[in-house]
Amino acid sequence: MAIRKIARLGHPVLRKPAEPVPIEDITSDSIQRIIRDMHETVLDADGAGLAAPQVFVSKQIVLLDLDDEQGMQVWINPTITPLTEDIMIGFEGCLSVPNMRGAVARFAKIAVSGWNAKGEAFSIELEDHPAVVAQHECDHLQGILYVDRVEPFTLAFLPEYKKYGHTLWQFIADDEDSTGEE
Ligand code: ZN
Repeated sequence: MAIRKIARLGHPVLRKPAEPVPIEDITSDSIQRIIRDMHETVLDADGAGLAAPQVFVSKQIVLLDLDDEQGMQVWINPTITPLTEDIMIGFEGCLSVPNMRGAVARFAKIAVSGWNAKGEAFSIELEDHPAVVAQHECDHLQGILYVDRVEPFTLAFLPEYKKYGHTLWQFIADDEDSTGEE
């Protein structure tokens, strides 16, 4: 096991769509080693999730802590389907964009299907915070970072976010007022 280096914003590996993992390879030593290393890396970095491209592996693997009792989940080749047009806006951070926060609009309820670390197919429905984490991590597999989706004027360094976060929310409210129903 090893803690891996985390790719930071600007590295091309974060922008490349990740390759699907052949199902028969999921239980192979090489994929299981990547999963173990990702687990160790995300725990060490105190993250809510980690996608394989963040450790320079361009494969469709994500680990996520969904605040349930299952601990860190492993999803391979996940597919997300929105189950509502309702959005929720919350502040996100990313291990590849250290010490920053920004507000992002996400679908409030989604379905996810894919394979787990044992190579078993799964499908689940998620809402609220777990749905946000899932959309953030699965975006990494398409080469998308939360800063690409950030609500204008809300990006902040972490200490400033902690100090002035309440003022940043005003931009979100203003934005919703100005765009109306569009
Ligand atoms: Zn991230």
